[in-house]
Order: sequence, then C-alpha cells, then structure tokens
Amino acid sequence: MTQQNLYSLTRAELTELLASWGYSEFHAKQIWHGLYRNLLTDTADFTHLRPDLQQRLTMEVTLGHIAVQNAQQSSDGYTRKFLLRYPDQKSVETVIMRFHARRARPDETNRYTACISSQVGCAMACVFCATGQMGFTRHLSAGDIVSQVLFVQRTLKEQNSQLRNIVLMGMGEPLHNYDNTMKAIDILTDHQGLALAPRHITLSTVGIPRRIRQLADEQRPINLAVSLHGATDAERQALVPPAKRWPLQELLDACRYYSDARKRRIFFEWTLIAYENDTAEQAHALGKLLAGMSAHINVIPLNPTTGYNGTPSDPQRVRAFQDILHSYGIPSTVRQRRGIDIAAGCGQLASADQNLSHMGT
Ligand code: SAH
Repeated sequence: MTQQNLYSLTRAELTELLASWGYSEFHAKQIWHGLYRNLLTDTADFTHLRPDLQQRLTMEVTLGHIAVQNAQQSSDGYTRKFLLRYPDQKSVETVIMRFHARRARPDETNRYTACISSQVGCAMACVFCATGQMGFTRHLSAGDIVSQVLFVQRTLKEQNSQLRNIVLMGMGEPLHNYDNTMKAIDILTDHQGLALAPRHITLSTVGIPRRIRQLADEQRPINLAVSLHGATDAERQALVPPAKRWPLQELLDACRYYSDARKRRIFFEWTLIAYENDTAEQAHALGKLLAGMSAHINVIPLNPTTGYNGTPSDPQRVRAFQDILHSYGIPSTVRQRRGIDIAAGCGQLASADQNLSHMGT
C-alpha cells in the first residue's frame, strides 16, 4: 500500500481523512499544528497526539522525507543553494536568498526569499535554461513542493530567521503542473499553518494562456511573472519553443485579461542575451507590445549554461535596453545575479551534480 503524503493534504482534506478514521476536527488541528507550526518531520515526534492516532498516522501516512544531496553557498554568503532528493531518488533545486531590508527595523534586518521548484526537469525546453536542456522527468506533488518550503523554514529557524517571500522560479514550469502547484500555494498560505502571505508569493511562467486565464478567475492574490524574452514571434520562438504553440498576441491577450480581472501589475521577465534579444529593435517592439498595460520588466542578464552559446549583455547594452523601455513609460529592474559563482541559475546545480559525487546528508 502506498502511503499518503501528509504534506499533499489541505487542512480541509486532512480533516476529512481524520473524520473517515473517526477523529474530530480537533485532532486534525493538532496534526496540522505539528506539521506547520512545530515543523515536525517524523510521525514518531507527534507525541502530543492520542497514542492510537499517532500509531495510525505512522502506519498510514508518510512525510515524504527529503535529503540534502548537495549544498553550496555563494562567496558573498547571500545565497545558499540545495539539491534536495525525494524518496524516489529524484532531485530538485531549492535556493535561499538573503536580502537586506532597505529601511531595516531592529527586528527585521534581513528578508529571506526561497526559490522553489515545481517539477523535476522541465518540458518547455527554453534554449538557454539548464533545466530546459535536461528535459522533463516528473511533476512534483503538492507535498513535494510544500516539503521544499518546510526545509527552508527549518533551515532558517535554526538561525532564528524567517522566510518572507517565495518565488516559484526554480526548476520546472508551474502552470504545466497547475493543480499541484495551486494546492501547494493553498497549503502554504493557510492561516492556521505557515500562513505565508499570498502577496509575497510570485509564480513565474513560460506563459500558458489558458492557465493564466484560469489563474485570473481564481482567488489567489499571488504575483504573476511571465517569461517573455522576445517581443516578436520569431525572436521568442527562437528562445522559447512553446511560443510556437502560443503566439504573442494570444499570450498578451491572456495577460491583459489577468491584469483586468485581478487589478494587478504583471511582471515580465527578459533574459538579456548579447546581440540576440538586447537590440534596440527588440526593445522598441517590447515597448509597443506592452503599451497601455500595467507592466514591470525584470531584466536578467544571461547566466551562461553549457548547452547554450550566448553571452550576457554588458552593462551599457543593459542600460540602453532599459532606456528605450523607459521612453515607452515601462519600468524595469535588473535582477541581481545572485549566486553566480555557485551557478544558482535555474537547473544549474542539478546538471552540475550529474558529474559530481554525491555529498550525502
Ligand atoms: N518555467 C518558469 C520558471 C523558470 S526560471 C518560467 O519559464 O518562467 C525563472 C526565470 O529564469 C525564467 O524567466 C527563465 O527564463 C529564466 N532563466 C532560466 N535560465 C536562465 C539563465 N541561464 N540565465 C538567465 N535567466 C534564466
């Protein structure tokens, strides 16, 4: 019998499961508290439960233990990157980034952001992306996604710190794994559990129009970031193969639908590759494409990967690109290249690890 992963259940589902075993909501709450407030990792540690219930838990459910397969820290100490392995031996990357608060309160000197994966590998095959170069292995379950965040919470708790932001920008395409990703978000934001603020969660997508519309129709006030990388169909298709299926017009229509429905600004990501998509033509095309939309561009200078020949744009070309966007009234920010010395770009630790002996735990 395969055991149910407890982290894949919403609080309502846990309550239902307990009811089917003959236990009241009170007991479900005790378990929920153990999972998300006390951050327990083993059903044997649920000693606050009635012994018969604890025994049943141990028999019937699993907490899907994850192991640290590899860990690296950037030389500036601001980025830690982990390769986490699930019981089926498949691994994903999880990154913890520390930011200085601009106006630090005494109790809040640092803000921590976790970069979380949604799939093992990725089916989207973006040419410059290390995960895209790896191909698709499997979807993560809601519990697999939740486990990464709990790992981060425990790691930060050991140093008396707390997680503030989540970016779904690790390995995988979250909207290709829609139901599990949304369920994980519901679990992570549950006010009786980790209670992460939906506004502190950003989902990054290659841009699947049907799913963007679905997200617009649902009630999760998270932030949306759409990976654009090209402002004409030809340029985008050269970098992002799924663009052949979803032309820019269809994608932008879905984005407009989203921002109208949710009244929220959309972030667009643009990996800047020298003389590929950092030209004045692309910048002007992008300015026209986003006219009249509430948009913000996150510019990411390319993190070189073994499977792709491009180079990052130099600071002058980045600046020139931004200046043109500015002339269309479009704000942009250059995303800090965090952990470049530990290859903390999407999928880079996992691909490097294929050539490394495992560090184990
Ligand atoms: N599948 C999601 C999440 C991917 S990672 C998506 O497509 O948005 C988050 C961002 O990093 C995406 O915009 C992705 O295109 C970008 N990215 C991936 N590899 C990169 C690299 N080597 N250099 C710069 N940006 C990269």
